[in-house]
Amino acid sequence: MTTTRAYSAASATSPLALDSIQRRDTTETDVQIEILYCGICHSDLHYARDEWHKVMPTIYPCVPGHEIVGRVTTVGAKVTKFKVGDNVGVGCMVDSDHTCQNCKDGQEQLCPNMTMTYGSPDKHLGGVTYGGYSESIVVDESFVLNLPANLDPAGVAPLLCAGITTYSPIRRWGDLNGKKVGVVGLGGLGHMGVKFAHAFGAHVVVFTTSPGKEEDALRLGADEVIVSTDADQMQGHAGTFDFILDTVSADHDINAFINMLGVGGNITLVGAPEKPLAVMAFALLAGRKSISGSLIGGIPETQEMLDFCGEHDITADVEVIPIQKINEAYERMLTSDVKYRFSIDMASLEAE
Ligand code: NAP
Ligand code: ZN
Repeated sequence: MTTTRAYSAASATSPLALDSIQRRDTTETDVQIEILYCGICHSDLHYARDEWHKVMPTIYPCVPGHEIVGRVTTVGAKVTKFKVGDNVGVGCMVDSDHTCQNCKDGQEQLCPNMTMTYGSPDKHLGGVTYGGYSESIVVDESFVLNLPANLDPAGVAPLLCAGITTYSPIRRWGDLNGKKVGVVGLGGLGHMGVKFAHAFGAHVVVFTTSPGKEEDALRLGADEVIVSTDADQMQGHAGTFDFILDTVSADHDINAFINMLGVGGNITLVGAPEKPLAVMAFALLAGRKSISGSLIGGIPETQEMLDFCGEHDITADVEVIPIQKINEAYERMLTSDVKYRFSIDMASLEAE
């Protein structure tokens, strides 16, 4: 085992602070990775503060972080995909049962025995898995991704969660060319949703509660921006959307967006607010609309997304911070003051 520096939360109310954790020795199929950058996902905050207690109670201490980019430092004897020195990525999952139908279909995120990067039972060491707010990690090679060489690693890290979480439902929807697509919330997920929907030829409309983000939204690929708190702006678009991706992390009126959908339209939730959302049945009935959800994406699709980003020169817009600013970053995320993803420069851990 290796002792590794990390940032952990000791309870739902404690700030993240320096800690030390154990990483296993590499098995035959493992890759050991020195972590260079780790994105900060709103899920990290939900989890560190035990906001998902009813579905997924947090076990403390917890080390969040599932947007990991790093360099391979050791490979097990049977590793075939990677060699020492490769730049690689790890997202929200580090293992699954490899045998169920979902795993066979490359939909490991739906495997009933999937191991999340943090907060799942650790099959090797006992306790729970620890995420990317740390110096290094050891992962089975089948859950390690190849990174496009042409992209900035700090901006690639968020692709491992925010990227795949928005790419997957947008791809699944079908041919978006010329379709009217809404993205609700311009944060980490939302800004990637805008980039992908734009890349797939949609007419992209951003719904934001932050009027100050309008210029950025247009620069990121939106064709129009609607301030969702302005009733007049909302009214003009009722019944006109084919598809809406809802990335909002907090309670909000989803019916206002269902009303934006045309006949047969769909709103897909990727945001995971702490409290249930109230859906007005009539908003769905009239117009035969549907609401659905989507969870990250499988490993093959994550690799496809990374390759697509390499070909189209797509990365997240990041503000790179040292790990010492993590608690401040969480507070800023809560006030929607993130443009549009924090990416931690993990070299800053060495200063501790
Ligand atoms: P984020 O960067 O904080 O962005 C969320 C955005 O939602 C904010 O920037 C803000 O955009 C909007 N928003 C926040 N509070 C709001 C409110 N009260 N009413 C209306 N809009 C509000 O968060 P993120 O990292 O993108 O994550 C978003 C959500 O997705 C989180 O709940 C996270 O846990 C979840 N998630 C799900 C998956 C999955 O697999 N399904 C994966 C990753 C994350 P504006 O300023 O533009 O309004
Ligand atoms: Zn995430």
